[in-house]
Amino acid sequence: MVDPNISRLPKLILKPGREKSLLRRHPWIFSGAVQRVEGDPQPGETVAILAHDDEFLASAAWSPASQIAARVWSFDPAERIDAGFFERRIRAAIKARPATTGAGAMRLINAESDGLPGLVVDRYGRVAVLQATSAGAAVWKRAIADALLAQASVDRIYERSDSDVMELEGLAPSTGWLHGGGATRLQIEECGLRFIVDIARGHKTGFYLDQRENRDFVGRLAAGREVLNCFGYTGGFAVHALAHAAVSVLSIESSAEAIALAAENVALNGFAADKAQWLEADVFRQLRELRDAQRLFDLIVLDPPKFAPTPATAERAARGYKDINLLAFKLLRPGGLLATFSCSGGISRDLFQKIVAGAAVDAGVDAVILRRFEAAADHPVSLHFPEGEYLKGLLCRKGL
Ligand code: SAH
Repeated sequence: MVDPNISRLPKLILKPGREKSLLRRHPWIFSGAVQRVEGDPQPGETVAILAHDDEFLASAAWSPASQIAARVWSFDPAERIDAGFFERRIRAAIKARPATTGAGAMRLINAESDGLPGLVVDRYGRVAVLQATSAGAAVWKRAIADALLAQASVDRIYERSDSDVMELEGLAPSTGWLHGGGATRLQIEECGLRFIVDIARGHKTGFYLDQRENRDFVGRLAAGREVLNCFGYTGGFAVHALAHAAVSVLSIESSAEAIALAAENVALNGFAADKAQWLEADVFRQLRELRDAQRLFDLIVLDPPKFAPTPATAERAARGYKDINLLAFKLLRPGGLLATFSCSGGISRDLFQKIVAGAAVDAGVDAVILRRFEAAADHPVSLHFPEGEYLKGLLCRKGL
């Protein structure tokens, strides 16, 4: 039964055959799939998505400026999209996560994979940082903030809707306190370690929470090893490595601001400053200099930014990944470990493995995979939305 409120919504009628992805519960409707629009929906407004024969498929948020013309809120014809809908989805997402206490940090809402396209919410202790990057999420921001205050054990909410993708949605950036106020430098805890997170100026919502479990795992391998930490940001992998008795950690990072925070994070955890060195440099260049200086390491971390946001940019990105992985294999001592990551949505897990294999071949070394990495468990991936699986990584040993 189609709810009478849904039959009153503006409508997007799809071209014949273009309902297939929705029938597989994929939440995006591309503009090329739309035959016509009935009514005069405003950006972010809820529309009914109908197949060419008028069959109801989903209710969705209209994004007229984007190639993704609509994003599905619900496939249920009886479900109204109102404040109660956001309360229910947010409650379900929070319930699916382990409870955090004190200064614990975690992702509470992982966008499409939690049934809330375009919405990311990270929790840093009692502060939630919200990122609304789709027209629909932006329109419902207030209701979302109210639901978080009621259910997420937070008392302040900061908005960081300033991602590049917003331009594609025709949205202006929007940042600042949505509820409460105060300091935007927060102290959080991760696996018993302390970090300062700058929610106003840091990348994304301030911290790369998706790498939490991988930092813990890789950190534990660092005992007695000389570590090279590439793309170090605010010292996540460096602090974990020092906590597990690395001999030394040399980090390469291009942002001076991130390095300053990284040095603070090392001190905050009581580690000697002389064990952690920072090079403000370009990783591509610096790895060559280290190679030319014949430096060698026992554990290398490569955690670069997204080289390929989309499949169209994959080829150029693949060359970048191959380059740094090849250099890393050369800079490892025999038996040394490489923890190598890609957070590019445009590079599949298979392709990434092929690139790393090609790098080992060109470096002239044998290598084996000891482990595969993915995003931490508070970053679920919807089975219907494979695009949500962006982070992949390999732990390789140099030599057989
Ligand atoms: N490993 C980090 C996250 C890394 S994010 C953590 O666990 O917290 C990627 C980092 O690479 C960013 O801090 C960015 O400033 C830096 N970066 C991007 N391009 C770079 C380059 N060419 N050389 C050095 N650093 C770079």
